[in-house]
Amino acid sequence: MSAINPPERLLMGPGPSTVPARVLRALGAPTVGHLDPYYLELMDETRGFLRTLFRTTNDMTLAVSGTGSAGMEASVVNLVERGDEVIVAIAGVFGGRMVDVASRAGATVHTIEAPWGETIEPAQVRDAFESHPAAKWLGIVHAETSTGAHQPLEEISRITHDAGALLLVDAVTSLGGVDLRVDDWAIDACYSGTQKCLSCPPGLSPLTFSPAALEAMDRRTTPVASWYLDVSMLRQYWGEARVYHHTAPINMTYALHEAARAVIEEGLDACHARHRFHHRALRAGLEAIGLEYIPSRSLPVLNAIKVPAGIDEAAVRKGLLSRHGIEIGAGLGPFKGVAWRVGLMGHTARERNVLTFLAALETELGCVSRDFAAGRAISAAAAVYRDGDSA
Ligand SMILES: *Cc1c(COP(=O)(O)O)cnc(C)c1O
Repeated sequence: MSAINPPERLLMGPGPSTVPARVLRALGAPTVGHLDPYYLELMDETRGFLRTLFRTTNDMTLAVSGTGSAGMEASVVNLVERGDEVIVAIAGVFGGRMVDVASRAGATVHTIEAPWGETIEPAQVRDAFESHPAAKWLGIVHAETSTGAHQPLEEISRITHDAGALLLVDAVTSLGGVDLRVDDWAIDACYSGTQKCLSCPPGLSPLTFSPAALEAMDRRTTPVASWYLDVSMLRQYWGEARVYHHTAPINMTYALHEAARAVIEEGLDACHARHRFHHRALRAGLEAIGLEYIPSRSLPVLNAIKVPAGIDEAAVRKGLLSRHGIEIGAGLGPFKGVAWRVGLMGHTARERNVLTFLAALETELGCVSRDFAAGRAISAAAAVYRDGDSA
């Protein structure tokens, strides 16, 4: 039997992103017990870090065991009792997944939709609450990783609260990558993941609930459908009582603690600015060779671009991976075969990765089509780097 020896990859897809050595070192630190005083202190500190990242003072801020989808499930099942009406916005894969999760939890789900690549308009939310005034919450994705679209939330939040409902936000790809303000934007349930802009391996889901969301849970008359994700029990472990519920993924907490610490050391605003800057360089390079962005409001952290006509998209991705060790994402759903998704998440968002990727992409495109002569993308990105961050 051979030992684990994964290939070296530059992860520029829709997640996971490249994990820095400091986070991997933390992950490999000796395991302690889940009730060890050292671990309990670490949990508290991690919760504090997560509050900083979410920009919230919410007491109920924790890391759910499981990936981003576990955070989605935890947010939904704790805020749904059989027969509850909810509204979910669909503008890609993850809005669709939320509909599935809420339906399985017993909710009657009303949907509003935007075409793939577009964002939900506030008027659609207003209309939905007029048609369904009993809806308990609106669920919406802040950064739709399947389309690269960046959903504005402030006005939608006001409309949702005016309708007396709660706001549930998927911030799996936005946390640490783009501005996200849980308190200022009055988000009641917000979940994320570790492997996108936090550059930590997958395995935990940062999650925060507002006091209003906790009150809604306290008013429940039926138990939460999921035992594992029941926040009333998780609170007992993450709070003062420290009652065993399930064994926490200790080493993943080490890794998340270190990943969050790295972002806080850099500064949240500086970290967002770094993502925007490298996105600008990447975009300049891609557009210089005629590649087009799909969404009108593009995320800096996920660049969804059209595959040029006549290009075999899978062959290019395969070349990038096998010859350059670079992973990018394929299109999903209606974007299958027609889009590439290039992630600039967390630790991945830096100059050498942007330049490495553009050089590799130009090389691969040059192999499949004579229309692409190498060098133009690199020059355009280099011009952005030469002019610097302030330009
Ligand atoms: C990745 C992602 C998820 C799911 O997270 P997993 O970690 O894959 O379970 C949910 N929502 C969005 C927007 C995502 O990008």
